[in-house]
Amino acid sequence: MREVACRSLGHDCGWKHAARTEELLMDVVAIHLRDVHGVPALTQEMVGAIKQAFNNAEPIEISAGDAEPEQETQNRS
Ligand SMILES: [Zn+2]
Repeated sequence: MREVACRSLGHDCGWKHAARTEELLMDVVAIHLRDVHGVPALTQEMVGAIKQAFNNAEPIEISAGDAEPEQETQNRS
């Protein structure tokens, strides 16, 4: 799942949404921005911010899970 928070797009807003693909998420974000924040269309900046929020979601979890056990074994041995 991909998730994006409205806050990460520069709005003071607690809305967030998760979707299976980037395209689906982009659609829902565009509708939310239009209906709630009065944004007529996504700008290139917003698309970039959404993709960045997207890309950050998964690697952080993976690298955190990978790094910790390795450090522990090194410290003990
Ligand atoms: Zn919002």
